[in-house]
Amino acid sequence: MPRRRPREPRRAELPASGLLDWTSSTHWSHTPRPCRYCGRETNLRDSARKPAHKTCAEEALRQQAADAAEAYEAARLA
Ligand SMILES: [Zn+2]
Repeated sequence: MPRRRPREPRRAELPASGLLDWTSSTHWSHTPRPCRYCGRETNLRDSARKPAHKTCAEEALRQQAADAAEAYEAARLA
């Protein structure tokens, strides 16, 4: 029986461009709050409505994708 390939882990979505589209007003708040990643104030909100700079969120998603790819590769080779 052929061995099943491990399923690719779920990951947050980052477009192929590597840049998020936060032009929607849902990503903006009039109240500055500390960014969930770097702690500096921002009016921007991520898709979960948490305060976050766009560049911080993009970097976090890149890191998540890299970690997921690494975990996937490790599982594949195990
Ligand atoms: Zn930030």
